[in-house]
Amino acid sequence: MMIQQIGNRGCLTAILLIALWSSSTVFAKSPAAIFIIVDGIPADVLENTSTPVLDSIAGKGGYTRAYVGGEIGGESQSPTSSAIGYNNLLTGTWANKHNVYDNQVNDPNYAYWDIFRVAKEHDPTLQTAIFSTWTDNRTKLIGDGLKEAGGNKLDYVFDGFELNVERFPHDLQEHYIRAIDDLVTDEAARYIESNGPDLSWVYLEYTDAVGHNYGDGPEMTAAVQYMDGQIGKIWSAVQKRQQAYDEEWMIVITTDHGRDAKTGQDHGNQSERERTTWIVTNSDDLNERYYQTPAIVDILPSIAAHLKLEIPENIRNQLDGQSFID
Ligand SMILES: [Zn+2]
Repeated sequence: MMIQQIGNRGCLTAILLIALWSSSTVFAKSPAAIFIIVDGIPADVLENTSTPVLDSIAGKGGYTRAYVGGEIGGESQSPTSSAIGYNNLLTGTWANKHNVYDNQVNDPNYAYWDIFRVAKEHDPTLQTAIFSTWTDNRTKLIGDGLKEAGGNKLDYVFDGFELNVERFPHDLQEHYIRAIDDLVTDEAARYIESNGPDLSWVYLEYTDAVGHNYGDGPEMTAAVQYMDGQIGKIWSAVQKRQQAYDEEWMIVITTDHGRDAKTGQDHGNQSERERTTWIVTNSDDLNERYYQTPAIVDILPSIAAHLKLEIPENIRNQLDGQSFID
């Protein structure tokens, strides 16, 4: 009816508009992904703390409780400790496969590919980046450049500051870690906005330091609020990127473990609070898996799905997780 009223010219316009719409669906936006691990924040602490940035990201996608630790009493049971949790995420497998059982990371099993290796094997031109307070994350867990880990190198590396004691003297209350987190955050935001790497990992450690030093209480709440502000800088960079370029970004923020129920200072065991984590994402392609308490090992297949990475069948078959996006 509308077309008849506006005549033939309107008809042509309508046809042109339809043609334009079809071509834009053919040339889909190029995907990019960033995952952020903020260390040792129990789900109940996050839920009881004001975090406007995480809320706004979750408003576009979702917030869910999640879990770490594998199957209690089963062969996949994994300590609720830091390096183990990161590697659960990085490889999409539990500790019985990736073989990292403590923070020393003595003998990781690189037969279980990490997400960066999956990306590089799919397409060596994909740009990868890490921004981290803990150098072992790159040198040991990812095995950056190691032949036995595939020999790939991350394209952009920003880490190692915890080893620079002249610039960041180690104080007992570990304020130096917050200072490094700030540096890491600012550089991640700057680099993402200017370079838009295809796949990035940001790791922030200060919340775990506060947990160990103070346990549950106002200090931990303040550290979580501070972290939210740091995420805000990175989220702002992602949004600017999406405004300036034809890119579709997936951001995933999670933690590597909860903490003990009694004090909130410890972790490593299989109590419910230590196993209970959370995931925030801006993805609006979430499927039912996301709302049925996903595991940290589900993040790799989800990011791979967003980036449309082809995972070799033998690697795919050994994954313990499944995608929470369609
Ligand atoms: Zn941790």
